[in-house]
Order: sequence, then C-alpha cells, then structure tokens
Amino acid sequence: MVRGGEFIHGLPQTTRTCTGRFSGLPIHSETLISAVCLIEICMTEPIQIIGVQGLPLIKKGDDVAALICDRVPLGEGDIICIASTIYSKAKGYTRPLSEITPSERAIRLGALNGEDPRFVQAVLDASTDIIMEHPFILSELSFGHIGVRAGVDQSNIEDGMVIFLPPDPMKSADEVRGRIREITGKNTGIIITDTCGRSFRRGQTGNAIGWSGMQAIRDFRGDTDLFGHVLKITEEAVVDEIAGFSNFVMGESNNGVPAVVFRGCPKWTGHDNLYFSGEEDITRRVLKKEWS
Ligand code: GDP
Ligand code: MN
Ligand code: MN
Repeated sequence: MVRGGEFIHGLPQTTRTCTGRFSGLPIHSETLISAVCLIEICMTEPIQIIGVQGLPLIKKGDDVAALICDRVPLGEGDIICIASTIYSKAKGYTRPLSEITPSERAIRLGALNGEDPRFVQAVLDASTDIIMEHPFILSELSFGHIGVRAGVDQSNIEDGMVIFLPPDPMKSADEVRGRIREITGKNTGIIITDTCGRSFRRGQTGNAIGWSGMQAIRDFRGDTDLFGHVLKITEEAVVDEIAGFSNFVMGESNNGVPAVVFRGCPKWTGHDNLYFSGEEDITRRVLKKEWS
C-alpha cells in the first residue's frame, strides 16, 4: 500500500485504511494485506499490486503461466509482469560456461573489461550489434532492445550457468497471455521485464522487453494541458513504468518474487514503437561514432 508516500510491504494479514488526496481528487479505500504481498496505490480507483509468492526455483520445461495461475486468482484485465529470468529458465535459454569457447574478440574484451571470456562470448552471441566495448559491452539484441552485456545474467541460476534474454519477448508475452486465457478464461496483459541500467542516472530499473494485451506507449501528443497548451512531444512509456514498479516488488536478489500482478490499472491508448530506430537514436549514434 502506498499511503501519502508511506510504503507498507508484505505485512501479515491485516486491514489498513487509506484516506487522502491524489491528483486533487478525494480518495478513500480499505485494503486487505494477505499472504500474498499486496500493495495498493490510491488513485480515484485503487490499483492493487500483488507480488506472486511461493513460486519454486524455475527449471526447463516449467509452465510459468500455470504456476502463476495456481498462486493468484487472476481477474479480467490484470497485468502480469514476469521477470525474463524465469521465462528464460523455463524455456532453457541458458548455457553452461564450460561449453562456450571464446573467440579472439571475446578474449580481448574479457581482458579489457576484467570478465570471463566465455561470459563475454555469450554476450557477443546474444548481440546483433555492439555499440560500445568498454568499460562494459553495450549491444543491441535482435528484437531491438539495447542493453548492458546484452542482458545476459549469471545471477539467480546455478554457478557456471548464464541466462539469456528470450530471443523474441513479444512472442513470449503473447504465448503466456494465450496460456493464461486457456487456463482461466481471462484476458490479461503480460509484460516480460528485465532489470536494466540507464544513461545519465545511477541505479537500475525494471524495463519492459516484451508485452502483450496492451500498447507500450500512452500517446499524449495532441492533448491539451491544464492551460490549454497542445502537447507536441509527450509519449509516456507506460509498459516501462509498470515494469519499473514490478522490479521494486520483485527485488534483485533472493526475494523469490519473479512475477507481479497489477489490478485496476486505468486503460491507455497509443502505440507500440518503444524502440528508437537507428536514425532516431542520437545517443546510439554518438556512442557508435566513439567506438568505430
Ligand atoms: P531479471 O530482472 O529478469 O534479471 O531477474 P532477477 O534475477 O533480478 O530476479 C527477479 C526476482 O525473481 C527476484 O526476486 C529473484 O529472487 C526472483 N527469482 C529469480 N529466479 C527465480 C526462480 O527460479 N524462482 C523464484 N521463485 N524466484 C526467482
Ligand atoms: Mn536480467
Ligand atoms: Mn532483476
């Protein structure tokens, strides 16, 4: 529950009252915080945020959608954020380092960045374009995402293993959504997330790398502000905002909460062009010039 800036997380079963004002509108709601970790953000209609507890360590072949449905009764319109880590483990998008032979480039970059050349090779294999080589590899993946070390992880998996991002996260999100519809009959939205670094600011945040059942961006262009000015450039990356908060609920280490349900989000309209094209992306152009 968020209450005038106060955050209450994972409390034992209890009822809390939330009263206050948000965006100038009066609010009042009562929330039951139960065994699932439930957070409620007070707007005109409350948004409930449920961290899915009790999921096992995911292994290849697991049905992630079914495991989530077993633990949280999903409703029509719920948005479920799923950490890419567990989707990839379930699909077997993992490799043992011992089976990776580093190329000359991987050996060179490993020495340059102080990393295991086999890990560097995994990063190179996952990348379609290397944008920056040092002090870490920044690269593009086939689905348009640009990420540090191509999002290849060595955490939350056994020693000596690496986890890759799903190769087509939009398709992954579609698949999970379809499976949830099959199990529950409900139409939900799915966001596959990953924790990413960012330019200009310290600290990682959750990003959406694939989504289904919603549009990535809420388009405010053409809308008027409180003073009647027409907005010309404002596009809100809602999928990243939701992914960002889900990351807060998931945590990064040993929480064991790889999925988060958002209930009661207002609807939005816009478009799906989340990734800049090469020509649009000024930062990428400058970085590429630096490294070419
Ligand atoms: P990423 O952001 O997709 O790279 O995933 P993280 O490694 O940061 O994990 C996100 C959350 O999922 C954390 O709370 C982890 O503890 C949890 N997590 C990761 N793998 C598993 C798993 O196999 N089972 C469970 N129950 N939780 C996991
Ligand atoms: Mn990750
Ligand atoms: Mn993470």
